[in-house]
Amino acid sequence: MSAALEDTIVAIGSGANGALRGVVRISGPAAYDCVKSWIALQDPPEHFGRTSALSAATAGVADRQLPCDLYYWPDQRSYTRQPSIEIHTIGSRPLLEEMVAAACRHGARMAEPGEFTLRAFLAGRLDLTQAEAVLGVIDAEGDARLKQSLAQLAGGLSSPLAEARRQLLELLAHLEAGLDFVEEDIEFITSAELCAQLNDARDCVEHALSQLTGRDAGDELIKVVFCGAPNVGKSSLFNAVIGEEAAIVADLAGTTRDTLQKTIVIGGQTIALIDTAGQEEVDAGPQQSAQRLGSEQVSRADLRIVCWDAGREATFAEQKLWDDAPADRRLLVYTKCDLATPGDQSAIATSAAVGQGILELRDAIAERIAQLPETEDATAVRCRASLEQAAESLMSALSAAESGLGEELVAVEIRMALAELGRVVGAIATDDILDVIFSRFCIGK
Ligand code: GDP
Ligand code: ZN
Repeated sequence: MSAALEDTIVAIGSGANGALRGVVRISGPAAYDCVKSWIALQDPPEHFGRTSALSAATAGVADRQLPCDLYYWPDQRSYTRQPSIEIHTIGSRPLLEEMVAAACRHGARMAEPGEFTLRAFLAGRLDLTQAEAVLGVIDAEGDARLKQSLAQLAGGLSSPLAEARRQLLELLAHLEAGLDFVEEDIEFITSAELCAQLNDARDCVEHALSQLTGRDAGDELIKVVFCGAPNVGKSSLFNAVIGEEAAIVADLAGTTRDTLQKTIVIGGQTIALIDTAGQEEVDAGPQQSAQRLGSEQVSRADLRIVCWDAGREATFAEQKLWDDAPADRRLLVYTKCDLATPGDQSAIATSAAVGQGILELRDAIAERIAQLPETEDATAVRCRASLEQAAESLMSALSAAESGLGEELVAVEIRMALAELGRVVGAIATDDILDVIFSRFCIGK
């Protein structure tokens, strides 16, 4: 990741996976040169701006020149503070790849993962915490996590820490000035003032720490969520899988009002097994009930157990519940197979009433979760470790100050706390930390 900044880099920014809009991003000194021969511009822009253009690079694929919007930043006002171009067009992988290939034929090279963001970071656009927030945004699965990432990007976590750092630097300057005048016994800061400021800084670090911890709370367990229409037998199946009468089972539709969560060990992994709320009123239109079935728990599931009643066809909403989940994060289960034989042989046939298919379902869950990608957020772990170290150093500084152990000792601890805070805020970012962080970015970010 020590790639030269003078290189002009290109990557597909988004749209390769079927999004409506596709974006090709180019950054570097020769950004304009590498598109001018295959992008037909009405007016080559001199300032930042959006222009309509036609791409000739895609003629072989699209059969004709492709209309696109070209965003051009000729100077340092771009994300990377380098001349940059974004070509916005339809989200088709072959078309976008043709454009990337054309840019590469004209002097650009493929960007490495995270290279755009690395440039933004090196240009001072982002501090390390913000860069990590970008990473969080990319990783974000649930909405809550996304919001948190965005708040962090806006400086939610980094600006209070940056402020604490600034205060500590000042404090250190006072202390060191005092140390230089030890003979004269000039006090640049009173002991009470010193303690108060150390306390403030420690509070600030502890607060950031709790925010960071709060971010992951509840996210640590893999969530396996039973979902489906009211009365299909979710709660009965849930009980059968956990092997006890934990969920309320009722004959009336919509009795399970709240989601119910049980922590169980399955295939050697501790997981949260979640029974979703029953949904009252199914007489709303299919769109609406589909929305209701897709509750927040369901959308945040690591693995979705989609329950269909073996005795009837799946409704639009039930089908959608299945279709909306990625293939490696869903299992299809037929319920009440004591009453009917399911049409689809590839799904798991269960009956909570007679205990059919329960072990099979447990095995299938174990197999699926074993294949889930590692979810641990290494950067959050690293940030937390640094903050813990900083808090500890500040604590030592405080007790050294209170017991009059000498300002040298206080200064040493403050310096250690500053180094740790610097790791988080980005003032001190060692190469290997950067490598770890930026190689986790998606290409094009
Ligand atoms: P939920 O609303 O999807 O959670 O469904 P419940 O588990 O509360 O079950 C709804 C109704 O279906 C209850 O009357 C259950 O007794 C019945 N039921 C659940 N599982 C089975 C099963 O495997 N076979 C039969 N025959 N009935 C079942
Ligand atoms: Zn239920």
